[in-house]
Amino acid sequence: MVHPTPSLVIVGSGLAAWTVVREFRKLDKQSPVTLITRDSGDYYSKPMLSNALASGKSAAQLVSTPAAAMAEQLDVRLLAQTEVAAIDAAARAVHTSSGPVSYNRLVLATGADPVRLPLQGDAAGQVLSVNDLSDYALFRERIAGAKRVTVIGAGLIGCEFANDLVSAGYAVDVIDPGAQALGRLLPVVAGERVVTALVEAGVRFHFGTTAHAVHQQDGALAVTLANGHALPTDVVLSAVGLRPRTALAQAAGVHTARGIVVNRQLQSSQPDIYAVGDCAEVDGQLLPFVMPLMQAARTLAAHLAGQDVRLRYPAMPVVVKTPAIAVVVAPPSAGAAGEWLVAAEPDGVTARFVSTDGALLGFALVGTATSQKAALQKALPNVLE
Ligand SMILES: Cc1cc2nc3c(=O)[nH]c(=O)nc-3n(C[C@H](O)[C@H](O)[C@H](O)COP(=O)(O)OP(=O)(O)OC[C@H]3O[C@@H](n4cnc5c(N)ncnc54)[C@H](O)[C@@H]3O)c2cc1C
Repeated sequence: MVHPTPSLVIVGSGLAAWTVVREFRKLDKQSPVTLITRDSGDYYSKPMLSNALASGKSAAQLVSTPAAAMAEQLDVRLLAQTEVAAIDAAARAVHTSSGPVSYNRLVLATGADPVRLPLQGDAAGQVLSVNDLSDYALFRERIAGAKRVTVIGAGLIGCEFANDLVSAGYAVDVIDPGAQALGRLLPVVAGERVVTALVEAGVRFHFGTTAHAVHQQDGALAVTLANGHALPTDVVLSAVGLRPRTALAQAAGVHTARGIVVNRQLQSSQPDIYAVGDCAEVDGQLLPFVMPLMQAARTLAAHLAGQDVRLRYPAMPVVVKTPAIAVVVAPPSAGAAGEWLVAAEPDGVTARFVSTDGALLGFALVGTATSQKAALQKALPNVLE
């Protein structure tokens, strides 16, 4: 199938891709838009993947608008279940599993891949990670009838899954090489409160060690830790981070670093190739969260519609979805110089990250202290001016 008429082509159908299309259509109802995605294209909210279990939601129930309805509403030519294998920047075409598609402008909204740990053992291949609807469907299939789940990683996604699983009645072990939960986001005292709340809910943490191997054992699994202990379990879920998908762009000669490098118009080093969402590195920053990608998608849509715009990021706190304890965090920018000033009360922790001259650069709030979110958010500087 060849599509000879060049159009705006968007690769991906996650929140970034669909938000670009929705925002673009508000400004331009005429120009043809083609959306190519290797998945179904169904519209869903990815953050729900880590808190849908306790509310009993299946993968199908997480779809808020099916792909065909999205395509019709937004007047998009949708090529679903279609993988983009290569970009020919000189010919302005992408090579897909259903043939070449020409573009006049190309938007990469290809997301990020879960990081896979190099695990040993005859069941290493059974380790799951949940990063999209089909992963979630498989996860639900594997935990059906299971009792014990081991989560590798005590970061944001690992803690959210641990809370969701324990609330749904599973015995949950969490393994992390650090000394605390949410180590990249929270100062020690705040992290300790999260651990205490999750332990009270029934989660068992194993800090200061890593998963080394996963073996079949007695009809179930066993995770061998680097400290020599073994955890019998039924399902292993890895949540050790995400890595932006850069390979397509890199092979096309687009400049990539940790992500696809783009400027404040979301424009890459190649004319007419853009990147947005988890795959993009904007001004040296990777911000794999919903709020930043919404801001970026709006800016990109306006730029594509001919407006003179420049991406700004306001302060964008992230709410950690752990019902066992409320947590809101607005981490300081990577490399920001300063220190955490922590006030710990019995029911909450207020942590302010301040520069040497006393300016607020970030915060972390736990428990009842989360009521201060709005006030502290106002006091924060923009992430990108
Ligand atoms: C479990 C979980 C919980 C989260 N919770 C929160 C939260 O509470 N708050 C928050 O702010 N953020 C949260 N996040 C992060 C947030 O969900 C992501 O930042 C966001 O959804 C990323 O959207 P995206 O469109 O950039 O990428 P994705 O949703 O990953 O979409 C990428 C798309 O590209 C397609 N694709 C990739 N390569 C190709 C190719 N070669 N050809 C064709 N198609 C391709 C894929 O099929 C997919 O459709 C969470 C993430 C996870 C995994």
